[in-house]
Amino acid sequence: VFNFAAGPATLPENVLLKAQSELYNWRGSGMSVMEMSHRGKEFLSIIQKAESDLRALLNIPSEYAVLFLQGGATTQFAAIPLNLVKLEDPVDYVVTGSWGDKAFKEAQKYCKAKVIWSGKSEKYTRIPSFEGLEQSPDAKYMHICANETIHGVEFKDYPTAKNGLLIADMSSNFCSKPVDVSKFGIIYAGAQKNVGPSGVTIVIIRKDLIGNAQEITPVMLDYKIHAENNSLYNTPPCYGIYMCGLVFEDLLAQGGLEEVEKKNKKKAELLYNAINGSNGFYRCPVEKSVRSLMNVPFTLEKPELEAEFVKEAAREKMVQLKGHRSVGGMRASIYNAMPLAGVEKLVAFMEDFQARHA
Ligand code: PLP
Repeated sequence: VFNFAAGPATLPENVLLKAQSELYNWRGSGMSVMEMSHRGKEFLSIIQKAESDLRALLNIPSEYAVLFLQGGATTQFAAIPLNLVKLEDPVDYVVTGSWGDKAFKEAQKYCKAKVIWSGKSEKYTRIPSFEGLEQSPDAKYMHICANETIHGVEFKDYPTAKNGLLIADMSSNFCSKPVDVSKFGIIYAGAQKNVGPSGVTIVIIRKDLIGNAQEITPVMLDYKIHAENNSLYNTPPCYGIYMCGLVFEDLLAQGGLEEVEKKNKKKAELLYNAINGSNGFYRCPVEKSVRSLMNVPFTLEKPELEAEFVKEAAREKMVQLKGHRSVGGMRASIYNAMPLAGVEKLVAFMEDFQARHA
């Protein structure tokens, strides 16, 4: 099938086949990666290679630490304020969708978090102009969600935080295109969209931000503990990290993130053009300039046909096209691992469906 799920999501076939070939016996070790000690030389080589390949992919400067954690991006919503600020400190949140809103609500428990812009009244269909952002004068950081998975709104460029500390949730566009890591204090992402199975959370953090956690910070949320122990303070999600490593290898073999971005742009363009060219039969509510390359939400002019659309598509082996329960309609997630052929097939189906139902 072509799997358009938002996450966990489709992974590259060659990566899955490679994992399958090594499942019982990883490179002559006689063990599956699932059976290895996380402190043994075999797993150490896996996690170290995963980190160095990710560093190469994103060109991560040496002043940044890379952490492989657990708990999903959701755990980072709390870990970030707990590690960076004190209870009385002001911080700013730009809320361009549901995930940014969740991050803000969690941060409120641990500091004086303020929403300085929200797209909620416009149903999260745009990104604010950066000049118009009224940042709090003494905010310790500014948080954004680089790609809102549910609403399909993506930052194409990034605002500058007044004190230089921009924090980004990149869960759903991580490794989909090159990023200038030096513009950020922290980039974090759950792996289960572009780079692996659920269970791994990647945090890329400027090293000078580590070591200031609030006293109440649980040990599992303390970046210092994880950085000092190279993400091996406790048992990490070993198999998930291994899978991420295979994906990083694959992305490098494809020519790196410039090449990956080219492919992603081509796929997204094809799908958005189909929507734009449908005379209103299909509609994407998101402002054109900030439409996501990864998650494409769309509705039908006749909403009563939406269930039929999803059902017929599934019959044609295109699955998970139903929109998020909070917004309805449809959503096609077209992450790195979605082949062009999958999007071509979807577009052909959309045209055919329109011809039969318009
Ligand atoms: N942030 C974004 C942008 C997401 O898309 C998601 C999950 O879909 C999350 C955060 C939450 O991630 P997790 O389920 O890994 O906690």
